Amino acid sequence: MSDQEFDVIVIGSGPGGYVCAIRAAQLGLKTACVEKRATLGGTCLNIGCIPSKALLQSSETFHEVSAGLKEHGIIVEDIKLDLARMQARKGEVVTANTKGVEFLFKKNKVTWIKGEAKFTGAKAIDVGGATYSAKNFVIATGSESVPLKGVEVDEKKIVTSTGALELDAVPKHMVIIGGGVIGLELGSVWHRLGAEVTVIEFLEHITPGLDMEISTQFQKILSKQGFKFRLGQKVTGAQVTDAGVTLTVEPAKGGEAETLEADIVLLAIGRYAYTAGLGLEAAGVAVDERGRVKTDAHYATNVPGIYAIGDVIAGPMLAHKAEDEGVALAERLAGQAGHVNYEAIPSVVYTWPEVAAVGKSEEELKKAGVDYKVGKFPFTANGRARAMAATDGFVKILADAKTDRLLGAHIIGPDAGTLIAELATAIEFGASAEDVARICHAHPTLSEAVKEAALAVEGRALHI
Ligand SMILES: Cc1cc2nc3c(=O)[nH]c(=O)nc-3n(C[C@H](O)[C@H](O)[C@H](O)COP(=O)(O)OP(=O)(O)OC[C@H]3O[C@@H](n4cnc5c(N)ncnc54)[C@H](O)[C@@H]3O)c2cc1C
Repeated sequence: MSDQEFDVIVIGSGPGGYVCAIRAAQLGLKTACVEKRATLGGTCLNIGCIPSKALLQSSETFHEVSAGLKEHGIIVEDIKLDLARMQARKGEVVTANTKGVEFLFKKNKVTWIKGEAKFTGAKAIDVGGATYSAKNFVIATGSESVPLKGVEVDEKKIVTSTGALELDAVPKHMVIIGGGVIGLELGSVWHRLGAEVTVIEFLEHITPGLDMEISTQFQKILSKQGFKFRLGQKVTGAQVTDAGVTLTVEPAKGGEAETLEADIVLLAIGRYAYTAGLGLEAAGVAVDERGRVKTDAHYATNVPGIYAIGDVIAGPMLAHKAEDEGVALAERLAGQAGHVNYEAIPSVVYTWPEVAAVGKSEEELKKAGVDYKVGKFPFTANGRARAMAATDGFVKILADAKTDRLLGAHIIGPDAGTLIAELATAIEFGASAEDVARICHAHPTLSEAVKEAALAVEGRALHI
């Protein structure tokens, strides 16, 4: 094989692409990964999961010191915010991660082809004038922020998540268009640092897709923290002024328009599959009505030898979903039997408190006509949560009414993102609620609330 021929060429180095490339190389396939960004790691490491979690951590610490320590008898005076340092630290965290992927590529002998890939046919791509061919191509080009008519993003006053991660001053009033995960996480960052935050959401509730009971509780808690919500409303225009932005807002169902002033507007109404400039037409690869690359259950497109994974295909737009697809596909390309269980993919909102879910929501079970039982346990009755002064929220477990098999789990509360792993494991292993209830959970831990919720499925919680 020449230097420009490979067993596998992965296009895009996000969590889907870079993990797929590493796994393929581990399995002995000659692998390259094409990335047009100056650094590896895709949306997740550069402008997504990692920088947002760095700022969430810093702002949570700032808020804890400013407002949460008195309760513990700790008096801290003269607290100041050094936003430039906070942003610099975020940059350091991002660099450590992107360099980490570069190191892993070297270690596993994955060739990084720098530049933008474009299919010139079904068997070759062009990158900066050079042609590369492979037995198998993997499209892992990810996603981009959905634009909104009448709201022109300049990444200064009207920003997407990318601009919202780079602000060099705390806005006085930030208006967020869209009450989804990304908007609420970044809204939390700036709210904790002092911004007034208003969320405008088209639907009558926030966080579409979450179990409704959790979503309602989440909105209550955020409102108590000071978030303002305008539900059932839509933004129809945005005018940048010297002072900031004037938004035109209307009821979603139609009605009288009003204006709203903000100094920063964050547009966060979702993400769409990104395939611009990739030359899918030249390769003959089909996309669906939403522009996502169409694949079968094993990530094969309609063109033999071309596959796709991650945000660019159907399914939840989550880094770990992309990663698992990357591993499963690499294993299949190496002749193994890779597989992803879509029933056991957790999702987490990294606000305070955190929100986490795995499996089905109550609404989904009702719609599917499944007979289910519910077990719930509040963190107000958990000793560790009380000791932490973090009693907002509850654990909710859904189990099959006849077999007791776990169907879904939903947590709003401290460390929900970590607690959900136990329930994802349980669902993966086909466990029943009773299995979880009979596992010995250390005391005093937040995970006891999981055990109690599992006990509550049979109406036999002990501590409430
Ligand atoms: C603010 C924010 C916060 C998020 N937080 C979380 C979180 O906490 N947890 C979570 O699970 N998910 C989170 N996500 C979602 C997560 O980032 C995505 O699900 C994940 O990055 C998808 O991975 P991917 O590999 O499919 O694509 P991406 O990470 O989008 O990577 C695609 C890469 O392909 C490159 N590319 C595109 N076209 C070409 C081409 N023609 N040639 C060469 N390179 C190309 C792009 O430059 C990019 O680097 C967040 C997203 C955002 C925006």
